Amino acid sequence: MSAVIEKEISANHPLADVAQKVYNGQRISRDDAIKLYQSDDLAAVGALGEYARRLKAEPGQENYVYYIHNMHLNPTNFCVETCRFCSYANPDERGKAYTWGVDRVLEEAGKGAALGIKEIHMVGGLNPACDLAYYEEVLQQIKSQFPHIHIKAFTAVEIEYLANLDGISYEEVLQRLIDCGLGSMPGGGAEIFDDAVRERMAVKKTPAPVYLDIHGIAHKLGIKTNATMLTGISETVENKVDHMLLLRGQQDISGGFQCFIPLKCYYDGTNIQNEVTEPTSADLLKDVAISRILLDNFPHIKAYWIQLGVQLAQLALSFGADDLDGTILEEKITHAAGAKTPLQLAEEKMEQLIASSGYKPVVRDTVYNIRQISPLEPAALNQSFAERLAALSHS
Ligand code: SF4
Repeated sequence: MSAVIEKEISANHPLADVAQKVYNGQRISRDDAIKLYQSDDLAAVGALGEYARRLKAEPGQENYVYYIHNMHLNPTNFCVETCRFCSYANPDERGKAYTWGVDRVLEEAGKGAALGIKEIHMVGGLNPACDLAYYEEVLQQIKSQFPHIHIKAFTAVEIEYLANLDGISYEEVLQRLIDCGLGSMPGGGAEIFDDAVRERMAVKKTPAPVYLDIHGIAHKLGIKTNATMLTGISETVENKVDHMLLLRGQQDISGGFQCFIPLKCYYDGTNIQNEVTEPTSADLLKDVAISRILLDNFPHIKAYWIQLGVQLAQLALSFGADDLDGTILEEKITHAAGAKTPLQLAEEKMEQLIASSGYKPVVRDTVYNIRQISPLEPAALNQSFAERLAALSHS
């Protein structure tokens, strides 16, 4: 059995009209995406996500799944912001707030370099002690000691904060960071763009137009960025679709997004659990499939294993994701909120996870140049999609 979800979508299926657009490579509408979310035929939605993924891949690379050797660096967890879904920042009342000096950041980067990492993913809280000058020094020092390591750093929220601290433009902040070695930006801080959700969950957080503007400026300055969506924070299906449509619109203009990453909220250390509906595994798989179909101008969709858990991330590969992120040393943010996934996955294990899901493991760099194609062959799956889903819900 192939890794593709075997699912015929017949002419009288409720999703037949949307399916026809996907098969023809046509852009789907807001109503189409909502219809996909409202469908109770999870296998059909997954099959369409997988189809869209294969359509986007380069010929001969349809079953490639990418990963990278990377590490996470979080120089500070002190934050002046008070997002209600965040367990990572604002722990000062618990005596756990920390701010690393440049030497400590370098020491941690050195541990990753010794293990052969190729990318540092660096984000942190909004901390007045960590201003633009501090980060310029951090970037310069890392690049001078480890010039081969790509630095992907700073969410749009951090860029906005750094600009406001120094009273300068987003463009000046980005250009100065690029001049010091910034290679690309992650996609965090998008959460859900809807104003009402933001009002409830993150009152002062960077609004959608600013988030999109900063990513557009980064694209204009020549660096790639990612984008995210955080679910489980009281959003509706319509909020999710509108969120992705704003990203699709920005990508039509500036073209520099390379990957979309659907995320789920974890609730340990927050007080929002009674106000939200926790996404089910089916909801998370739909986010993967529908983002693959709706975001037709995004090259890649990531199944972020740290958040989804290993088994669900594997299944998400059959729903349209083509990236598992990385081997990740020292992930702190999701684990501060209760994620129970392993803190790092060794390279060998990562390749086995991909191959045993029916795909070809491929090592990439941050901007998706292929670095190494694994000798492991994709396994022939001996479980049907329904059996894999059932196994997941019983694990
Ligand atoms: S999500 Fe980011 S901006 Fe919000 S409190 Fe946490 S670290 Fe600060």
